[in-house]
Amino acid sequence: MNYQQILQEISNEVSTFPNTGEVANYIPELAKVDPKKFGIHLTTVNNEHFAIGDSEDRFSIQSISKVFTVAMAFSLLGDQLWKRVGVEPSGNPFNSIVQLEYENGIPRNPFVNAGALVVVDVLLSELKDAERDLFAFVQSLTGVSDITYNPIVAQSEKETGYLNVAFVNMMKAKGNIENDADEILDFYYKQCSIEMNCRELACAFLHFGENGKAYDHAGFRLTKSQVKRINALMLSCGFYDESGHFAFKVGLAGKSGVGGGIAALYPEEFAVAVWSPKLNKKGNSVRGFNSLELLTTKTGASLF
Ligand code: GLN
Repeated sequence: MNYQQILQEISNEVSTFPNTGEVANYIPELAKVDPKKFGIHLTTVNNEHFAIGDSEDRFSIQSISKVFTVAMAFSLLGDQLWKRVGVEPSGNPFNSIVQLEYENGIPRNPFVNAGALVVVDVLLSELKDAERDLFAFVQSLTGVSDITYNPIVAQSEKETGYLNVAFVNMMKAKGNIENDADEILDFYYKQCSIEMNCRELACAFLHFGENGKAYDHAGFRLTKSQVKRINALMLSCGFYDESGHFAFKVGLAGKSGVGGGIAALYPEEFAVAVWSPKLNKKGNSVRGFNSLELLTTKTGASLF
């Protein structure tokens, strides 16, 4: 498969579409990102690398980080984790609060904001230094040691994240939060403001697609079956209320973030990350989505 040529074709085709959507302007620091940025990196299980555009620029990974934290929490608690957070698509926006009240403070899945906040609560309860462990985990997945978060973006989120404050407090009132709300939110904003480039994300996600290999990163071990379940969650919930559409059009397991990144994988073949900051109304990158649709159309890659 000539992936380099395919990435070139995707880049050419996508650049002829109007650059529609909006950058994530509800987080003031993210509103400053150059909306013309566009990059893709694809890496195969044979350690081949293909890239195009701004694939080496680091950007705010936002909710893509939720895959890392849920993997850590699943490794720590095993199936007990699913008593605190569900595994169903929400059919609602990532920052919707309505379901949370009538479903008794148990978020639908770990990728909506409320679910990711419960996952943080688990990490803070189970680990002595959850922040250090998260960065060790990301370092182990990528082989890169200088990945960190952007404190200005984290602060910007803290100042404007009124709904996230509401989620934690609603869940605390319902008995599904153990730690201090501020500590949870501080950790959550750090994980969301981690900056990585497309290459680093593709390398990290490739590990979720190598089912034959033992999964052990920085002491966080997952069984083969647990890795498959993380992939199932990405497929069913990775794009919020657009997850069905992503499965329908793209057919890969993946996760988006409001920084405009999408990381996706085709198990036993490749992982790919794409970045384009303009988002559709569901909070997913417009060109990122289009690019991955073209990728699976051109390569024939699909989970199905
Ligand atoms: N940090 C963002 C928030 O809390 C993450 C949202 C996302 O990427 N979907 O709103």
